Amino acid sequence: MPMPPMKRVLLKLSGEVLMGDGPFGIDPDFVMELAEEVKRAKETGLEICLVIGGGNIFRGMAGAARGMDRAQADYMGMLATVMNALAMQNALEQIGVPTRVQSAIQMDQVCEPVIRRRAERHLEKGRIVIFAAGVGAPYFTTDSGAALRAAEMRCDALLKGTSVDGVYSADPKQDPNAQRFDTVTYDRVLADNLKVMDASAVALCRDNDIPIVVFSIREKGNLARVLSGEGVQTIVE
Ligand code: UDP
Repeated sequence: MPMPPMKRVLLKLSGEVLMGDGPFGIDPDFVMELAEEVKRAKETGLEICLVIGGGNIFRGMAGAARGMDRAQADYMGMLATVMNALAMQNALEQIGVPTRVQSAIQMDQVCEPVIRRRAERHLEKGRIVIFAAGVGAPYFTTDSGAALRAAEMRCDALLKGTSVDGVYSADPKQDPNAQRFDTVTYDRVLADNLKVMDASAVALCRDNDIPIVVFSIREKGNLARVLSGEGVQTIVE
């Protein structure tokens, strides 16, 4: 399927994919495999912004469900995304890809704060910019962070790499008749509450005309296949 023309993309990876086959946390071997995929995508000439979730370490909602204060738990979730960003930075730089991490929660000793103009400069110089800590506020997710950074960095698409190969009409694990869409509109995703990203992230992409490409990052080589139009994915547009 033809992909939208892309010069600059935001790649959002859910934290879960950093676990590899483990139950929790960060699998350095798998992070290295992901880094290799990102490197290959960059070698095609793309400018890449990265956002990584934190669900492999901590999700605020899970803490709140067990009695924690939601905002406090969300800040822990945001810190988890910084750890993931540093792990990915480490892997990318070990294979020669220069990167900068910019965090929405200031942490001068470990990374830069989010400064859009500086991020632009990094991209111009061929660096990958990893945006950490989501939007920097509780009650949001890294999907919203990804949509926000995609809009402010004027990305041509938001690539959402996850464990499933697209958007389905129902949960394929529960409904054998669930169908995968090749394309689907933002409004259908919102109206039918399809599992893509949270509603605020989808709405932000819709309002700024940023197509969302949902694909599986678990299969080796899939990012490159999707970028070349030979992959399996759903485009939300
Ligand atoms: N989070 C937040 N504000 C943000 C981004 C993230 O409060 O702008 C917290 C929230 O608790 C969330 C956690 O960080 O559950 C990890 O992010 P997310 O759940 O989006 O990670 P993913 O599901 O992509 O791995």
